[in-house]
Amino acid sequence: MRLVLTGPPGAGKGTQAQALAAMWRIPQIASGDLLRAVVREDSELGREAAGYMGRGQLVPDEFVLKLIADRFRKKDAQGGFILDGFPRNLAQAEALAKRLEHAGLKLEKVVAITLPDEKIVKRISGRRTCRKCSAMYHILFEPPAKPGVCDKCGGELYQREDDAEGTVRERINVYDAMTRPLLDYYGRLGILAQVDGIGRPEEVEKRILAALSGVAKPK
Ligand code: ADP
Repeated sequence: MRLVLTGPPGAGKGTQAQALAAMWRIPQIASGDLLRAVVREDSELGREAAGYMGRGQLVPDEFVLKLIADRFRKKDAQGGFILDGFPRNLAQAEALAKRLEHAGLKLEKVVAITLPDEKIVKRISGRRTCRKCSAMYHILFEPPAKPGVCDKCGGELYQREDDAEGTVRERINVYDAMTRPLLDYYGRLGILAQVDGIGRPEEVEKRILAALSGVAKPK
């Protein structure tokens, strides 16, 4: 299955992509995680990317497209993938379509998770992320068993720099200006499903599975 999960920051893309990837046994490809891995390497490019991310702006397409192209070449991505956070603007969507078309492939579905702005800020300000495995928690809604420690791998939980409130507002603006137009784009292609992101992760997951039921079944 080749699937895109889109939606505003904090809508739950990462959480849902992780669950669906496990269900279908295909990789979750999260552009934000790929970028954060480069930033950790502390290279010139990494420092540049970190600047955009810290301001809540999009990292230039050329850089993101290169990271995605490298990731697509890996063996585990050959049987399908769940894209999380990519594409984020029309140029990226068009580059993705072209790449898939070249390989004789296409996207089966684009699931857009919707969430009102006030919920976005509430969710993101409590979000904690594992430095080691990128698993996500929420200090109120989804706390780890031991504060500050990842249940899955024992890694350290931290608050992403771009999860500070001012930056979240900018990320919402960027989403509205750059990413939201993709809903029309994929709507016209007839592969868009919009899913309400309010509620517990399991509830949202059920809605997504219902939206995907005509497309694919988990392995
Ligand atoms: P969220 O979806 O919660 O905003 P992500 O981890 O997907 O979190 O993205 C964090 C930041 O990484 C974005 O604000 C942006 O700076 C950068 N980023 C992630 N994906 C892309 C992309 N496809 N194109 C450009 N920048 C990106």
